[in-house]
Amino acid sequence: MSDKANILIIEDEEAIRTGLIDVLIFHGFSTDFAADGNSGLDKALTGKFDLILLDVMLPGMDGFAICEAIRKEDREQPIIMLTAKTADEDIIQGLQLGADDYVAKPFSIAQLILRIQAVLRRSGLTQEADHIIELGSTKKNNYIQIDTRNLSAIKDNNDIHFTRREMDILLYLSNNTDRPVPRDELLNKIWGYAKNLDIETRTVDIHVAKLRRKMENDPSNPCHLVTIRGAGYRLMVD
Ligand code: CA
Repeated sequence: MSDKANILIIEDEEAIRTGLIDVLIFHGFSTDFAADGNSGLDKALTGKFDLILLDVMLPGMDGFAICEAIRKEDREQPIIMLTAKTADEDIIQGLQLGADDYVAKPFSIAQLILRIQAVLRRSGLTQEADHIIELGSTKKNNYIQIDTRNLSAIKDNNDIHFTRREMDILLYLSNNTDRPVPRDELLNKIWGYAKNLDIETRTVDIHVAKLRRKMENDPSNPCHLVTIRGAGYRLMVD
């Protein structure tokens, strides 16, 4: 076994696929690939990969269905979607289905490598943190108990499941409840992006929206994970 990060590329366009393989090997990664959706999902579920690069438009199963199926089995597997540049709805859908990040085609190699390295740099927040986070109160009918190690929560006797990335956001906010946390700080601390990069913050917003749908009684009027206008996101502990 080598200690190189192993990346699965699920991409049907041969020119892009072989280009990706060359570039990733050049940058010190090992790779495997699939050229259609079904064999891609099969490899994703049976292999051991540090990261999956997942195209949206594929013969057989599409990238969204694959992302959803992977997340059902494994909430920790890092996934970057390869989306068409103009297709905003692709980006949003991919992130909603559990992708950690996206790269829009046509992408620059430098940008792609940066994002891969960022996703591979696990924050490791979860291991160090307190086990249980409690928010709200039973009196206000908004109590939720979050188990950070199991990536889960209990709310109204229902089990909620989070991805690793979602939990990292919650943990970071829970360690900074005295202030709103700006979106670029979350991109830096959770996604590992360097500061001053012109990277869209929509990835953060979509993850926050997903968290709200899971945690809040009324996601459009959140009481736990609130927006402080012009300042960022804040987790309310009382
Ligand atoms: Ca394609």
